[in-house]
Amino acid sequence: MSKKIIVAGAGHGGLVAAALLSRDGFDVTVYEKQKREEMGYDWNDCMNPSVFDRLQIPRPSDEELLPFSGMNYLSPDCTRIVFDRRSQKSSFLGERKAILKRLIGFAEENGAKLCFGVTVGAAVVEQERVVGLETDAGRFDCDLLIDACGMDSPVRQSLPESFGILQRIPEAQTLYTFRAFYERTNRSKAFPTFTCCFFHNGSNTLDWMITETDYVDVLIASFGSLSDEVVQSSVADFRRLHGGFGETIVRGGQRSKIPVRRTLPIFVADGYAAVGDSAAMLEPLSGSGITVSVEAGTYLAQVAAGSQHNFSKADLWEFEALYFDRWLRMILRDDATRLLMQSMNYRQLNDMFLKKVITAKELCGDETPPHDRRNKALGVMTTPGVVPGLLHYTARLKRVDKLRERFPREYEEEKVRRWAKEYDRF
Ligand SMILES: Cc1cc2nc3c(=O)[nH]c(=O)nc-3n(C[C@H](O)[C@H](O)[C@H](O)COP(=O)(O)OP(=O)(O)OC[C@H]3O[C@@H](n4cnc5c(N)ncnc54)[C@H](O)[C@@H]3O)c2cc1C
Repeated sequence: MSKKIIVAGAGHGGLVAAALLSRDGFDVTVYEKQKREEMGYDWNDCMNPSVFDRLQIPRPSDEELLPFSGMNYLSPDCTRIVFDRRSQKSSFLGERKAILKRLIGFAEENGAKLCFGVTVGAAVVEQERVVGLETDAGRFDCDLLIDACGMDSPVRQSLPESFGILQRIPEAQTLYTFRAFYERTNRSKAFPTFTCCFFHNGSNTLDWMITETDYVDVLIASFGSLSDEVVQSSVADFRRLHGGFGETIVRGGQRSKIPVRRTLPIFVADGYAAVGDSAAMLEPLSGSGITVSVEAGTYLAQVAAGSQHNFSKADLWEFEALYFDRWLRMILRDDATRLLMQSMNYRQLNDMFLKKVITAKELCGDETPPHDRRNKALGVMTTPGVVPGLLHYTARLKRVDKLRERFPREYEEEKVRRWAKEYDRF
């Protein structure tokens, strides 16, 4: 009899793993709380379609993709702009509903069973091993439980502490978001087309405004909480800067959450693996997780299919090895930049932009060229209170390669826990 795999939540990585494991002959069922037709936000997201193509995973058609032509970062006081070349490379805005529709189709065509309208709860754990899942449609047994339930996964939160897997994402690492597409009221050239702003006019936010032909896409996001007042004042300020979008919301208008932190150090256990937002697999500075999750789903399927089929944590550790091998450097560099930003207040961060200490290079995680260092040092010296944060930032960047080298390739409980501690301290 084929081994039974349950995917809790139809997250992107979980759907990919479901498709590939079904194709390999496993008996896979996905339980998703939403109805099929409700799946996905009513907006488009930054993604890298070439990754989907390389992995031979269906993605939105070219007509469903909009080019994402590089982000302009505004200083917190909205006076200085720096341009992020990284996003120019291969990013597009893909319709979220179209991405999920393709992934659901991919899973079903390969034989996975999808059960919509089923809310999952706690994992069933016996003798330190996950053996099943509680849902509102009853309890189901499995040999492997894949947790693709997103950042607030009730499955991950139910795991025993002894697994060493973080149960709750702290508030400080949670970005509360509001996103809406507003009608565009005039065709004049917008200021500028892609704009992102940290600490927008003194709020604890990370906001963006993207101008498309018929609408202006506005995201207001804040660490820890997001009040209606902050949403209204940030939108009003963007409206003033832009000069061409009205009050009517044509799409979206939804609140949601993003985990902005480095990926959890431990996301596997006996009979259990988390993928996607459930394990915080995303770019910590931008909150982009679709491409990362999809790629991680392929690693998980590869490892699960290749294991001895007892899905022990020692076997599943290879999933972590493949994941961190590919993403650890990006994640830690991005997270170092996030922590640097968060170590400053509005005035300090504003000065860092105006004095060109933070430029597109730093926002892309690139090295600062030697000839820029003197000017930056001057900028730092003349801005009170920023030195400790910058020293931490430099020290963190130095630790990236060490953490990568020290990652335990083979699963040994003590070594894994030691590495996880060091990674947590980053
Ligand atoms: C405003 C906003 C903008 C974003 N922009 C981008 C972007 O531009 N690019 C990008 O790559 N990423 C973006 N992201 C992040 C992106 O949404 C996630 O990183 C990505 O979806 C990967 O997460 P996931 O698929 O693992 O989880 P999710 O997308 O959270 O999916 C989890 C699934 O599990 C289901 N579920 C949850 N709880 C239960 C339960 N109890 N029972 C059953 N099912 C359950 C949910 O309904 C959902 O279908 C954005 C997020 C937000 C909120």
